Amino acid sequence: MQTIQNENLVIKEGNFTVNQVPAMGRKCTRCGRSLKKAYMVNGVPYGPVCVKKLFGIRIDRLAGPTVRRPIIQDTAQQAIFSEPTSGVIYRGRIIGKDEDHIIVCQRGAYSYSLRLEDSLQHVNHSPTGFCWGYGGSGPAQAAFAILYDYLNFDLERARSLYQDFKFKVVANLPMDKPFELTEQQIESALTAIDVRRLS
Ligand SMILES: [Zn+2]
Repeated sequence: MQTIQNENLVIKEGNFTVNQVPAMGRKCTRCGRSLKKAYMVNGVPYGPVCVKKLFGIRIDRLAGPTVRRPIIQDTAQQAIFSEPTSGVIYRGRIIGKDEDHIIVCQRGAYSYSLRLEDSLQHVNHSPTGFCWGYGGSGPAQAAFAILYDYLNFDLERARSLYQDFKFKVVANLPMDKPFELTEQQIESALTAIDVRRLS
């Protein structure tokens, strides 16, 4: 299902509607960059790179007709709209009969789940999924995935920090229970890790 209009590009992809609109000083909700063209996903502005990273929708302006690559498969990935919050919050959830451990990031009014396969491309501790509450491989995968997302895909920094972050934060979350991790908590953990390394 796809409709394209020349002036105001519109893509419909599952639950998502993407409108290309003039930037008008908008910033990307995901990474904070100032936008030249804004892509409104269900009304929330992003840049094209972040649209691809978050929703699996590829916007290729050079290829004439818009090319899109739907890779949204897991139900957890579906957009969840909820109350706006300030800052960034990660929430651990346990869902389904398989008790899958998922991690949902909320940024303002928009939420999305962290994709296991994205984090596995960079560090491969736990192909079977995220976990928390102890110092093992599932928590290592979760620690990397959270930091990689939180640090706006800064791979080098996420790689250098995630093991310490695992021991300091993820291992101490309640095992097999939901959790909530705020931006402030993450910041103070990262500061503590940095301070410890410098001393
Ligand atoms: Zn962005």
